[in-house]
Amino acid sequence: MAVVGVDFGTLASKIGVARHRGIDIIANEVSNRATPSLVAFGPKQRSIGESAKTQETSNFKNTIGSLKRLAGRTLNDSDVQNIEKKFINATLVDVQGTVGVEVNYLGERQSFSATQLVAMYLGRLRDTASAELKTSVSDIVIAVPGWFTDVQRRAIHDAASIAGLNVLRLINDTTATALGYGITKSDLPEADSPKHVAFVDVGHSSMSVAIVAFSKGQLTVKSTAYDRNLGGRDIDFALVRHFAAEFKEKYKIDVLSNPKAVFRLAAMCEKLKKVLSANAEAPLNVESIMNDVDAASKLTREGLEELIDDVLSRVVPPIERAIADSGLTLAEIDSIELIGGSSRIPAVRSRIASCFPGKTLSTTLNQDEAVARGATFSCAMLSPVFRVRDFAVSDITHFPIKIQWEPTGAEEDTELVVFGQGNPIPSTKILSFYRKEAFEVEALYAEPDLLPGSINPWIAKFSAKEVPKVASEDDQTQVKLKTRLNANGMFSFEAAYVETREEKESKEDAAPPMEGVEGQAPAAPKKKKVVKHDIRFVVGNSAMDKSVIETLKEQENSMWENDKLVKDTEDRKNALEEYIYDTRSKLSQGERFHPYSTSSEQSALLDLLLTQEDWLYSEAGEDATKSAYVERLSQCTALGDPIAFRYRESQIRASSIAALRETL
Ligand code: ATP
Ligand code: MG
Repeated sequence: MAVVGVDFGTLASKIGVARHRGIDIIANEVSNRATPSLVAFGPKQRSIGESAKTQETSNFKNTIGSLKRLAGRTLNDSDVQNIEKKFINATLVDVQGTVGVEVNYLGERQSFSATQLVAMYLGRLRDTASAELKTSVSDIVIAVPGWFTDVQRRAIHDAASIAGLNVLRLINDTTATALGYGITKSDLPEADSPKHVAFVDVGHSSMSVAIVAFSKGQLTVKSTAYDRNLGGRDIDFALVRHFAAEFKEKYKIDVLSNPKAVFRLAAMCEKLKKVLSANAEAPLNVESIMNDVDAASKLTREGLEELIDDVLSRVVPPIERAIADSGLTLAEIDSIELIGGSSRIPAVRSRIASCFPGKTLSTTLNQDEAVARGATFSCAMLSPVFRVRDFAVSDITHFPIKIQWEPTGAEEDTELVVFGQGNPIPSTKILSFYRKEAFEVEALYAEPDLLPGSINPWIAKFSAKEVPKVASEDDQTQVKLKTRLNANGMFSFEAAYVETREEKESKEDAAPPMEGVEGQAPAAPKKKKVVKHDIRFVVGNSAMDKSVIETLKEQENSMWENDKLVKDTEDRKNALEEYIYDTRSKLSQGERFHPYSTSSEQSALLDLLLTQEDWLYSEAGEDATKSAYVERLSQCTALGDPIAFRYRESQIRASSIAALRETL
């Protein structure tokens, strides 16, 4: 069984695996430790991760990124329309009430929901981990932003199910980082004087701050704050607009009117931005950006800072909010750990530093891999495969959740906040209601204004068909409703029941008579035992129906099989081509196969190779089935193998004669 943790990033994702000697961040098929978070569609197959990146420029309309930004959203979500759309070239559509894309795939227009796209992508990460570990991968911990709401978390969870993954936990990404930080420290203080660390993650699309208390064997998240729309992509976007304006003047071209040109300019702007993190000035060149114009320019670091001043000014408020909510003084914060690619920008660093006067920022963590490492520790702790040092993680929820019900006469209240902001997770709360018959309650986010975009505050609905009739003294039946906010940050109605106290003689509990004491032992007391009468209920929430998940899983599997078949076919085609050239050269005068074949054998095989070559470059051979390539290769090997065998035999003979000579 494998232990895997994933940092699901907006731009790229990282995969951690646990091994006996510790946790490794693994490399993908092209040896990168970060895999582009992209899914692309083509006429014959899908391309996911690195292969999607390779063909992004030529196929940008059928390539989709920002996967985690779309998960759990609707098409009309204000964030999707006003923000995400700027970064997505594919056509966004509604797919059964959720946002999705319409793309050209297998020669048709097809649409997929964001949840399906995330499933496709997670499937690729699963295959990467599986290839590395040489075993199948099921258990996984996925890191998500702490500001993800119930519907977003459920979308990721459902996507994982579609990909055949078993989510042991969705962990908040700053909490994952904190876990990775704490679990490896052997010098943490006692619980009465914890060490406080501020984690600041500035990524590609979002910024997160968490202030965490560490003591021996445990961490407690004290506060969290976010800017959900602040990251490297906003800087890239500002640069694109700047250079587009410049090129309009300079070359009389309107880059913004040409999506491909925008796309290529954005890629160069990201490069330029990175160079400016280490240099005072950097050039920008985009060959043949449009209308055959080779665009060239340059920018200084100061110039960049001016352009992104409004982005930079938004770095400070989340940090100040987190500090205020933690209830700590600045002096009590012992260290500030930077994470996320955009925290490498000097101007971002200086804004962060300005919030902690007199302190130095620390970069002891690997800022690109800390989240994945922490998620993997979390998976190792939850999985039975490894024994991991105990480390208690006490996380909190960011958005308050309330329960709401219809008034029943006497009751005045119709709602109650059950899990307030900063409530620990996981957490269970039992509520009491007086009800005699069927009733319903709903769970909602208590402060809709705090939620991302247009996310619906509605979380779940509970309906009990009937309340059991139990004898009670005052004709009022008290119903208990058990609610839970689990470790994934997802809300659920767990149980509903009515309690009665029934008198029961309990022999076991009676005190035994004391030896040597005169008289009778006291009679066993009549004990009242609490009996629970379960109430049957149904719950509606935003999770996908099991049957829908099953259908999508089958669909995903068949797309996966198709991709595999396309790849295998390509491999077989290459194998045939390689055999033709390789064998032909080996058969020529003076080469290894020549002396071991008769001239008639040579001409028969060479003729066959020529036939196959002609076929391979004909229309039929260009795009044939896997079995056609396999069949043609085996026709060749039927003639070639006997020659290869004779050659090998002679080599073995020669080497054993040589070995024999040496021993004599
Ligand atoms: P998110 O956490 O927002 O979902 P992510 O995890 O994919 O996104 P990161 O990998 O933390 O994002 O950071 C990627 C961002 O950091 C990109 O915008 C990238 O251009 C930027 N970045 C990386 N290195 C540098 C650098 N040296 N200078 C400036 N920016 C950088
Ligand atoms: Mg990130």
